Amino acid sequence: MKRYKIVLLSGDGIGPEISEISIKILKKLSRKYAFDIEVNEQYFGGIAYEKYNDPAPKVTIDHCKASDAVLLACVGDVKYDTLARELRPESGLLKLRSALNLFANIRPVKIRKPLLDSSSLKKEIIENVDLIVVRELIGGIYFGQPRGQISNTKVKKAFNTMVYESNEIERITKVAIKIANQRSKKICSIDKSNVLEVSQLWRDTVFNVTSKDKEISLSNMYVDNAAMQLVKDPSQFDVILTSNLFGDILSDLAAMLTGSIGMLPSASLSNSGPGVFEPVHGSAPDIAGKNIANPIAMALSTSMMLKIGLNEIDAANDIEIAIDNVLSKGYRTSDLNNGNCQVLSCSEIGEKIIQEI
Ligand code: NAD
Repeated sequence: MKRYKIVLLSGDGIGPEISEISIKILKKLSRKYAFDIEVNEQYFGGIAYEKYNDPAPKVTIDHCKASDAVLLACVGDVKYDTLARELRPESGLLKLRSALNLFANIRPVKIRKPLLDSSSLKKEIIENVDLIVVRELIGGIYFGQPRGQISNTKVKKAFNTMVYESNEIERITKVAIKIANQRSKKICSIDKSNVLEVSQLWRDTVFNVTSKDKEISLSNMYVDNAAMQLVKDPSQFDVILTSNLFGDILSDLAAMLTGSIGMLPSASLSNSGPGVFEPVHGSAPDIAGKNIANPIAMALSTSMMLKIGLNEIDAANDIEIAIDNVLSKGYRTSDLNNGNCQVLSCSEIGEKIIQEI
């Protein structure tokens, strides 16, 4: 029997509620497909700060490094916003990404047919959307040095550094090429090279790497135009390649094409070692503990973990099919309520998904 060791980081806010469902799904799939899955839950985020005074404690990082894959829910809460930056839950995310060298973040954005009416955009605009955002995850302005605040002057000042080395751009471009080669072979690289030197290096490097693969068709777009095009005509995109900051913003924008941020999964990968699979959304403190969160993004992240991290393709597909079946029957969590569906709680819709498997 195949045996997998995964680490679960259920984190903060709605994290424990949506994690519980994914674990039940995994247990059911492990029986159906005869694999053994050991789920090792570790402290991460605000809850880890409470216990260890560190949002990403060494013990958690060590367990993650020794696993086959990491399933992460979400972290954060306003109550931690006044902490020193390195103690905040979000800094734990950056630390985990760095520790596992997760330089590639993959965010598929696909419209699920039963949800065509749930988007704030018109059905005709979104019906053919099927794109993947490939975002560089451990470089750029979120990690660049120097950074800081100067407050001992008359006027306060704060600064960050947006910096990329060409080898960081090369390796993420190769990931985008690999994904594009399994799809339509189209890459749109997004930057701000009309203003930023770092974006000019990005554009030149992406061109150099992609031009070695004659099958790939590369286009470039400025990030401001890309934001507009994602709303105006999102189906023009197939693989979007972009840097850490632009990818962070554009992938949330793309998430809303699907109707709710509660629908979108992601994978963060290195060239070797375990990946981290997590929903795009945050800890949603406004609805935490109310049993109304949408658990589908987490369930789809579990599907990505099975497919990419553990190579359990059939089990991964089962989750997707089960979710589509549940949505087709008109069941929704309240974030997707269009007035024409049966609204269920987080745990109820979780049970429906589990029954479909
Ligand atoms: P958020 O994604 O948590 O919430 C934005 C909005 O979407 C809220 O109205 C929330 O209720 C809703 N929402 C999010 N997920 C949902 C779900 N599964 N079902 C139904 N509704 C959902 O973003 P935010 O409010 O900007 O941030 C809240 C906290 O999460 C902050 O502390 C932030 O730093 C953190 N955060 C963490 C991650 C992460 O863990 N990867 C990502 C983004 C934000």
